[in-house]
Amino acid sequence: MTSVAELIDTLPSLRETVENHGLMAKKALGQNFLLDRNITDKIIRLSLNAQNKNDFNNEFVYEIGPGPGGLTRSILSNNPQKLTVVEMDERCIAIMNEIKGKVGEKLEIINGDALKENFGTKDKSPRHIISNLPYNISVPLLVGWLKDIQSFSSLTLMFQKEVADRITAPTKCKDYGRISILSQLLCKIDRLLDINPNCFVPAPKIWSSVLLFRPLDNILTEKQINNIEKLTSLAFGQRRKMIRQSLKSIPDIENKCSQIGILMTSRAEEITPQQYLALADLI
Ligand code: SAM
Repeated sequence: MTSVAELIDTLPSLRETVENHGLMAKKALGQNFLLDRNITDKIIRLSLNAQNKNDFNNEFVYEIGPGPGGLTRSILSNNPQKLTVVEMDERCIAIMNEIKGKVGEKLEIINGDALKENFGTKDKSPRHIISNLPYNISVPLLVGWLKDIQSFSSLTLMFQKEVADRITAPTKCKDYGRISILSQLLCKIDRLLDINPNCFVPAPKIWSSVLLFRPLDNILTEKQINNIEKLTSLAFGQRRKMIRQSLKSIPDIENKCSQIGILMTSRAEEITPQQYLALADLI
């Protein structure tokens, strides 16, 4: 029997596909395409290796913004139970339908907005999200998935390198901020690779980075997450100020900070994710 990987190999090349469909990138949709299968295969291989997996056998994968389908081909060639793609651009939906013509039910196509989709209750687990994210909505998408992270086994996501640097930044670093705290409290994060702008069509001005997120065992409640967001919004809203000033609207804040050993002269970036969590439990 012909394997899915073999069926994928009978498709026209990615560059031919883009030409056949006249797929000029649209800036408004954050489109920078990867047309080199070596790179998309490498992203999937590194992600699987880091998870000690040979392939996605019996697992469900969701891809956001498949575009011309480079990552889509690489995912399908690694044997998922089913791949669901969500794409806003109808030109790319036509390309997805070509792939579906080869692989049938293995590929589910949703023509819609990923910000409105809830993958955490779709299909059964294990579930994986993979995406070369549209850069203009990468952080809102990530925050939505982080809040539901126990529904997923992994997120393999490409960001602009400066966003990846913010997500992984340690305490006291200039890049450390709200997204670092939420990400690091909820996930183990591995940087899989950095990608040169010339690998994309069109080439963006800056490098990109692929991060792998896997949920940590400590589950945070909705209340804890809301309180962390409230605290970090106040603290980083006045990043240069001491927390004596930036957190003064929180009742009895001096006493609460002293219970967990946070000095009132600290600035937002000097407080660790664990300290924000401890404080969130007191408010
Ligand atoms: N995965 C492709 C690749 O690597 O070549 C394309 C990546 S491109 C950076 C981002 C893709 O997300 C585009 O195909 C774009 O049309 C799509 N997109 C943008 N906003 C979206 C949204 N809100 N929901 C779903 N897809 C979206």
